[in-house]
Amino acid sequence: MPNYQYICKKCGKKFFCTTTIHEHETRKPRCPKCSSHAVETILQGFFAVTARKT
Ligand SMILES: [Zn+2]
Repeated sequence: MPNYQYICKKCGKKFFCTTTIHEHETRKPRCPKCSSHAVETILQGFFAVTARKT
């Protein structure tokens, strides 16, 4: 499962949340600090996608 990092736009708290792709697109996690849904995804893991043997 992908591990997403989120940042809360309300309080600035950064947190990780592991969700399925479906869950990621259908519902947003809540900030563990202020319980706000105003969170933004910080995409992670692109380095792993582009890493390849040459
Ligand atoms: Zn928050």
